[in-house]
Amino acid sequence: MPASSHAAVVMPGANEPLRIDSFATPALAPGAALLRTLYSEVCGTDVHLHHGRLGVPFPIIPGHVSVGVIEATGGALSDIEGNAIKEGDVVTFLDVHETCNNCYYCLVARQPTRCPRRKVYGITYSARDGLLGGWAEAIWMKPGVKMVKLPPELEPETFIGGGCGLVTALHAVDMAELRLGDSVAVLGVGPVGQSCVAFASLSGADEVVAIGAPAARLQFAERMGATATLDLDVPERDRLEGVRRLTGGRGADVVIEASGAPEAVRQALDLVRDGGRVVVCGQYTDNGPVEIHPHWQLNRKHVEVKGCWGSRYDHFHRAVALTARYGGRKPWRDMVSARFTLDRAGEALRAVEERTAIKAVITPNPALV
Ligand SMILES: [Zn+2]
Ligand SMILES: [Zn+2]
Repeated sequence: MPASSHAAVVMPGANEPLRIDSFATPALAPGAALLRTLYSEVCGTDVHLHHGRLGVPFPIIPGHVSVGVIEATGGALSDIEGNAIKEGDVVTFLDVHETCNNCYYCLVARQPTRCPRRKVYGITYSARDGLLGGWAEAIWMKPGVKMVKLPPELEPETFIGGGCGLVTALHAVDMAELRLGDSVAVLGVGPVGQSCVAFASLSGADEVVAIGAPAARLQFAERMGATATLDLDVPERDRLEGVRRLTGGRGADVVIEASGAPEAVRQALDLVRDGGRVVVCGQYTDNGPVEIHPHWQLNRKHVEVKGCWGSRYDHFHRAVALTARYGGRKPWRDMVSARFTLDRAGEALRAVEERTAIKAVITPNPALV
């Protein structure tokens, strides 16, 4: 029997201090469930939320990608393969919910990540709607939320170490349409960039060049599978030369921008070879415009540029399976460099903002810190 109320971190508004409120346990309709939170991640998006850079219905309970234990269900539940989801199971869930499958973007354009009706746990739900964010003792799984059981070989820490960046990176690497032996440059060595490096190397890329800073994150990218790294301390001209040297003078077959810096999009267009492909998945916040040269960088270069927004259930489902299979070879688990209890959520946000942690996680359980 779940407790009658649960504590959760509330972000009351832009730049306001976080606080902890108590929320009533929701009544569980058929198809609903209550998760006891093990971990919820803190990512760059949470920092942007706190800076008021995304229009969200404050107050909110932050925390989109999370792992927890089923504490109660509103009747029988199963995953997409028909396997029962029961009390005590360790699950994660797709934070995106209510994609309608009934609008132009869902049905005609077939771009469900642009569905205007989609909701996201920890971002687009207000705290007034209840326990719909992960920085909490418990999370309310509304009916229809897609849950996946973690296979026994997948430690919760490994999946949450990858976090939302894992799912975003898988989508981006899918869009990159890598071929065996391709050369790939990844701009940015935060959580998304690290997983892009891991997935590119698992996809059979030949050269995987990680470009970013600081040095410790570049070293981590080598553990993820980078064959070469280039520090942002190196002048841009020399980084371009470095990539060309590694790619027969041509530039990378594929460049993935995962840094968040508008400048990196322009650089990606320089680093890619003629007729290559650029995937932009780092610009989740409006960090401003950048000037590009359409003749040299697009038209004459015959380059393909793709923007990558959000992720679908298939990315999420495969991300769980891939971390289960490759978690021993790719150190997602070690990306978790800081753990915080609910009362220290403000410190967790600062750690991510000041980049002292690659990945910070929040847990309501002091034994897991
Ligand atoms: Zn829709
Ligand atoms: Zn995120």
